[in-house]
Amino acid sequence: MDKTITVAQIKEAVQEAYDLYKNNTEGKNADYIPYLANIDKNLFGISVCLTDGKIIQLGDSEYQFGIESVSKVHTAILVLRQYGAEQLLQKIGADATGLPFNSIFAILLENDHPSTPLVNAGAIVADSMVKPLGDSDGKWKAIVDNITDLCGSAPHLIDELYKSESDTNFNNRSIAWLLKNYNRIYDDPTMSLDLYTRQCSLGITAAQLSICAATIASNGVNPVTKKQVFDAKLAPNIVSLIATVGFYEHTGDWLYTSGIPAKTGVGGGVMGVLPGLFGIAAFAPPIDDAGNSVKAQLAIKYIMNKLELNVFRSERVTITE
Ligand code: GLN
Repeated sequence: MDKTITVAQIKEAVQEAYDLYKNNTEGKNADYIPYLANIDKNLFGISVCLTDGKIIQLGDSEYQFGIESVSKVHTAILVLRQYGAEQLLQKIGADATGLPFNSIFAILLENDHPSTPLVNAGAIVADSMVKPLGDSDGKWKAIVDNITDLCGSAPHLIDELYKSESDTNFNNRSIAWLLKNYNRIYDDPTMSLDLYTRQCSLGITAAQLSICAATIASNGVNPVTKKQVFDAKLAPNIVSLIATVGFYEHTGDWLYTSGIPAKTGVGGGVMGVLPGLFGIAAFAPPIDDAGNSVKAQLAIKYIMNKLELNVFRSERVTITE
């Protein structure tokens, strides 16, 4: 089945989603990280980046918010670039935990085999794997350069968020040392955790995340800068990781109702990838019980359903002017 949708239809769907949900008051800001509790809860932005680089954006799409767990995707990509698909599978894994993102229980249950780089434990392991090993500054540079390549422009560290999160990340400290106990971390645990905390504290915009998602949707070519950021053959690995656990314990419900693999962060960002067509990102601080932005979910779901797009539907879709 062939289908054509126009840029005007996408714009209309984005506008409708924005108007429908901008006054929604469900959910509440993450409060276990003090900085996030104080962000204006009414901020709301949506951005779609097509695979030709065209960007459709609305609302607070240029506001810099904490990237948080969306950054797990970026660092997973870096590990894939540095080690390849097989090593990521062996050293971390690609399985959903079915448990909250910061679950210690998941590590205890699966201490003999790895899980996924898209929950806290696997993400800290991913940071431990980033080369050059043993070199905190070198690793940080590699992490930031990779995000810059994927998003087409640099993220900026939110110092206050980094401090806020470093002062309160007791659960993540336990995770890092438990990983050490099971020999599942590949560099210094304290350094790996610090890199993870710092990458979560990077400020990013919905527009930047939509470009990153479009880079994944375009087999590794950033549609704005035209740079080949990662090998095309890694794209399905990346999308499968996102599809499997992007919404943590709500991932199945999300995929079933939205039809798009997407990754969330407690800063309120959600980044979705529709291979071959576009990347989409939405941002609104209030989150649900699993740590996923309520308004961003509603908006992306609305746009997907309105355009009748679904990653699991067998059809050839073309986007025209
Ligand atoms: N930095 C946050 C944490 O580790 C990220 C969590 C998230 O966005 N789900 O708790």
